[in-house]
Amino acid sequence: MEPTLEELKNTYSKFSDEALIKLATKEASSLRKDALIALLGELTLRNLPQEVIDGVLLQLNYGNEGALENLCNFVRQLPCPRCGLDDKKLNANIVNSVLSIIVWSDWTQELRIACPDCLDLYHSKGNLFTLFCGWWALPGGLYMPLLAFWGNYKQKKLNHQPSTSPFLIEYVSQNLGKIKSNKKNPKMLKAMLSNATIKSLEKTN
Ligand SMILES: [Zn+2]
Repeated sequence: MEPTLEELKNTYSKFSDEALIKLATKEASSLRKDALIALLGELTLRNLPQEVIDGVLLQLNYGNEGALENLCNFVRQLPCPRCGLDDKKLNANIVNSVLSIIVWSDWTQELRIACPDCLDLYHSKGNLFTLFCGWWALPGGLYMPLLAFWGNYKQKKLNHQPSTSPFLIEYVSQNLGKIKSNKKNPKMLKAMLSNATIKSLEKTN
């Protein structure tokens, strides 16, 4: 049975400030509405930073007010963190690469947020890296590079699609508070986008 609002409030009241902020900034996208309400109450009660509270508020509202979509659109019109141009809308995609050494092969999947041309470049770089570094191990070197090339081939087709990619939606939904609180800080936004990760990738790596 799911905990009631009262039980949730009771649970959060025992969290440290640090744990509450972590929950609000990193895991709010996976919480249901009751949990968000309880979390919001506890954050407000303890007078924790407004941008953290705003992030939870946004999470609570985005379903009916399109706040997530608005924030995605805000991110998409920023200058590309790689080339600095802002004439093409940014998007996010996954880049595969393989590093093989003797008996060890490591397949990396990285999130990249950039303009479509730079996303193409990231895929080419991932392929080039795999071409030079992906084959030098048994048995992974025999098949992993092929899977990585195939993955990049499929993903690359999506680089120029006009719609917001599911990876960007995931990134923004997991970083609502952080993006919102840095809306007027282009340097910080650039750094965030350059080092972006999403939870669904963390599991596979
Ligand atoms: Zn670019």
